[in-house]
Amino acid sequence: MPEPVRICVLGAGVIGLHAARRLQADLPAAQVTIVAAGQGESTTSIGAAGIFRPGVFRAPTPRLTDEIMDESWRYYKALLASEQAAAAGLCEVSGYLLTRRGPEAIHNPHLERLCPDYRAANGRELAICPGGWKNGFFCTTLVTDDTYHLGWLTQCFKEAGGTIVEREVENLRDIKGFDIIVNCTGIGARKLTGDSRLVPLRGQVFKVKAPWIKMFFMTDDDTYVVPGVDRVTLGGTRQFGVYSTAVDEHDSASIWDRCTRLIPSLKRAEVIQEWVGLRPHRDPVRMEKERLDTGVMVVHCYGHGGYGVMTAPGSAGQVSRMVTEILRGDFSNPLVSSL
Ligand SMILES: Cc1cc2nc3c(=O)[nH]c(=O)nc-3n(C[C@H](O)[C@H](O)[C@H](O)COP(=O)(O)OP(=O)(O)OC[C@H]3O[C@@H](n4cnc5c(N)ncnc54)[C@H](O)[C@@H]3O)c2cc1C
Repeated sequence: MPEPVRICVLGAGVIGLHAARRLQADLPAAQVTIVAAGQGESTTSIGAAGIFRPGVFRAPTPRLTDEIMDESWRYYKALLASEQAAAAGLCEVSGYLLTRRGPEAIHNPHLERLCPDYRAANGRELAICPGGWKNGFFCTTLVTDDTYHLGWLTQCFKEAGGTIVEREVENLRDIKGFDIIVNCTGIGARKLTGDSRLVPLRGQVFKVKAPWIKMFFMTDDDTYVVPGVDRVTLGGTRQFGVYSTAVDEHDSASIWDRCTRLIPSLKRAEVIQEWVGLRPHRDPVRMEKERLDTGVMVVHCYGHGGYGVMTAPGSAGQVSRMVTEILRGDFSNPLVSSL
């Protein structure tokens, strides 16, 4: 009997957990172990609004970008239709994208392609929220609530025989005893790999209890109200190159002001938490094989910016493809070199 392939997935955020689950499914003979400095509350993934609203997400090629989004959409839609939906924190939410500028400022071609009910909002709809909105689009999209989703993925991973080791890794060469390493360390990859193209994009949000809010609203000035399973996320900020994870009172005031202007009833919402996360922004996302000088192969999958939750299942598909290629002896990166 040949020895089973030993794969180490580094990182237990939404990207690492999806990658690990996908590898278990596609390579049932492999032993998959997750090694992570932190899980759950200490990840960026836990605080994401989790809405499927593509923006400036770029995979190594345009074809791959569409493939990842389409595969992720199909995965989440199937999960939503299954009896696992509640445990996995999946919901379907309708709502509006709004702008005071021309429609192109907020039009979303990916949502148009994916959502069957995507359409321009009419005048009466634009008046639902105060603020003189000139253009907008309506659609029904998906929200993946990571306060449930990460726990569900972790449980599925363990039930399928996976092991999780809590450990901070200083250097990829320090990981011993594995044939392949899959690097899903989010913003941690900057220190680990020295990749200066990976930049934090600081995001601050409120998590509030507002059970009467059943629709999402997003504007082109980075204001958003996104209901999850039992909390609503109010945001936000997008600050490039800022590493502070402390709550900033000026950001708090600005977010609260923008969201309550958009939906005045939110003034009565109960604040559960204020939270800051560093989106791992890289253009394009790094999806690439690398051979270490120790001979061990690494598959990098990090840099998903503000779109890691929505693109995690499709990204996991790419990880599985690259790992399978390595096992066949193909160490090339054709998609990366075609940039
Ligand atoms: C305010 C905000 C709102 C967001 N809203 C959305 C949204 O609506 N939709 C969406 O799709 N995305 C959203 N995002 C983006 C999303 O949260 C990220 O893209 C996603 O969480 C990235 O996941 P990750 O697994 O790469 O990183 P993380 O969740 O940060 O996980 C990284 C993992 O790697 C581990 N790690 C790091 N370094 C090391 C090391 N040296 N050794 C060992 N382990 C290590 C960490 O402990 C952790 O387990 C939002 C982000 C923010 C901040």
